[in-house]
Formats: sequence, structure tokens, C-alpha cells
Amino acid sequence: MEAAVKYVKSLFLFELLKGLQLTGKYLFAKKITIQYPEEKTPMSPRFRGLHALRKYPNGEERCIACKLCEAVCPALAITIDSEQREDGTRRTTRYDIDLFKCIYCGFCEESCPVDSIVETRIFEYVFENRGENIMTKEKLLAVGDKYEVQIAADRASDAPYR
Ligand code: SF4
Ligand code: SF4
Repeated sequence: MEAAVKYVKSLFLFELLKGLQLTGKYLFAKKITIQYPEEKTPMSPRFRGLHALRKYPNGEERCIACKLCEAVCPALAITIDSEQREDGTRRTTRYDIDLFKCIYCGFCEESCPVDSIVETRIFEYVFENRGENIMTKEKLLAVGDKYEVQIAADRASDAPYR
């Protein structure tokens, strides 16, 4: 019986018609092609792009050089040196992230107790010269300064993970 069904199906090109039915369904469906870079797809506030170091509104660096991010980084991409300031607080003297090593897992921002190191929505960046893959403290702070409004809004968002 099974063989007979198979024979009839092959005789009337059943599998081919089934495939064509699917093709026809998408032929008239709404097109979803995005004309990147003119058009962009929606982005989650939890998107894990280029890193940034944030400051408090008074201009003070958030980072307290606890090195939790350095310890948790599975790719060993973060290098931190620190020293104690005259007022007794501790701050970094060096904070490097090697973007060639980074796997954008987000562990660093999750581990940070003061919401200092974060990953932004920035994903369109390139390196043109050797060494530009190292995000220094100065570069990270500059990214943080430039995109603080967006970063703060994303941190305040309770949008679910997508
Ligand atoms: S995103 Fe992950 S791999 Fe990249 S620096 Fe942070 S902890 Fe390390
Ligand atoms: S960025 Fe956050 S976790 Fe990393 S050293 Fe600074 S305070 Fe600690």
C-alpha cells in the first residue's frame, strides 16, 4: 500500500507541487528585505556592541577599579592597572579592551557593580591601522561621553531580552 501511495505521488509530481506551493506563498507575501545601510532593523536596548566607560553626571568616572570585569572576562580581553588617589578612592590608570579577543558576551557589563563598563548599540566600526583594536580608557570614556543619553535610556529600559 505504501509503495502504491509513493508511486501515485511520484506520478503526479506531488513533492514538486508542494515545493511550488511554498514558492507561490512567498512570491506574493510582503517583502522583508532591508536596504542596509539606508534602512536598519529594530535593535534591542540590550544589544552588545562597542564598549564604553560611563561617568556620573558630575563628571566623575564611575569605574572604581574593582577589576571584576577583568576577572570575569572569558576571553582575557580586559587589562586594568589601578592606583589609589589622594582622596583614598581607587581609579584605573589603564583600562584596555582588546576587541580582537572580545567575544561580546556581555559578562563585563553584567559584573560591574557601578554600571561603568557597558556595551553600546554601536556596531558599525572598522580598524584601519594596527593597534586600533585596543580600546583604551580614553577611547572608552569618549564613547561613553558621546552616547551617554542613549546608554542611560537603554539601561532604564525594561524591554525583554530579544
Ligand atoms: S564582552 Fe565578554 S569577552 Fe568582551 S570584554 Fe566583556 S567580558 Fe570580555
Ligand atoms: S568597569 Fe566596573 S567591574 Fe570593571 S573595574 Fe571598573 S568598576 Fe570594576
